[in-house]
Amino acid sequence: MILQIEQLTRHYGGVRAVDGVSCSVEEGSVTALIGPNGAGKTTLLNVASGVTPPSSGRVLFGGTDITGERADDICRAGIARTFQTPQLFPTMSVLENVLVGATPRGHINLIESALHLPRAAREEVQLRAEAIELLHGLGLPQLADAAVGTLPFGLQRRVEVARALASHPKLVMMDEPASGLSRAETEELRALVATIAGRGITVLLVEHNMRLVMSIASRVLVLDKGKLLAAGSPAEVQANREVQRAYLGS
Ligand code: ATP
Repeated sequence: MILQIEQLTRHYGGVRAVDGVSCSVEEGSVTALIGPNGAGKTTLLNVASGVTPPSSGRVLFGGTDITGERADDICRAGIARTFQTPQLFPTMSVLENVLVGATPRGHINLIESALHLPRAAREEVQLRAEAIELLHGLGLPQLADAAVGTLPFGLQRRVEVARALASHPKLVMMDEPASGLSRAETEELRALVATIAGRGITVLLVEHNMRLVMSIASRVLVLDKGKLLAAGSPAEVQANREVQRAYLGS
C-alpha cells in the first residue's frame, strides 16, 4: 500500500470532519474517494497532503510516517495534489506555473539563484526543458507563454495537473477534477488520468461525477459524515445498501 491512513481524526471545533478513518490506497491504482457533501473528503486530502494537521491518527506514505509534516516536505516525499479551485498564479505564464511545481526538486539555494551562479543556471535550463516536455505530453505546448488567468477553466485544471506532475510524484491527489468541466473536457480528463496511471503514478481522486468514477477507478472508498462507510471495487460499492442510503439521504 502506498498510502495508509490509520484512525485519522480531524475536528474543527465541534465538527468531526474526519472521524476515526482507516483506509489505504494501493500502489499503481486509480482510487476514488466519494461521499455526499460535507462527508470529509477534502479534509482527508488536506491532512494527507500536509495542508492541515490531524487531531489524531497517522498517515503513512510508502511505509514512512508523514503525519503532520509540512506540505512542501510531503510534496518532496512524492505526494502532489490539485485543488477544488485551481491554486495557480493567474498573472504568471503556464510554463512559470509548471516550474513552481518543479521547485521542490531543485538543489540550488536562494543565494545561488539570486546571484545566477552557473549551477543555478544549469538547473534552471534543465527544469525548463522538462516543464516544456511535460506541457507537450499534456497537449499544452502552444500555451506555454499564455497567462494562466486568461485560459478557460478546463485548461487551468490541466495546468494544475501539469504543475503537480512537475514534482515527479509517486501519488497524485486530485480534488474534484471534473467539477466545472464540460462533457468533452471530462472525457479529456478521463484520458489524462489514464495517461498518468499509465506512467505508474498512483492516483487518488475525490469526485462527484459517478460516471467518471465508475469508469476509471479500480477501487472506491466511501466517506459519510466523517466515517468510512465502504471500500471495494466500483461494482461492490454501487451495490452497497448503506452507500445507496447515504446518497439518497443527501
Ligand atoms: P464537498 O463534497 O462538499 O466538498 P467534503 O466531503 O469534501 O465536501 P469537507 O470539505 O472535508 O467535506 O468538510 C467536512 C466537514 O468539515 C463539513 O461539515 C465542513 O463544513 C467542515 N469543515 C471543513 N473544513 C473546515 C474548516 N476549515 N473550518 C471549519 N469547518 C470545516
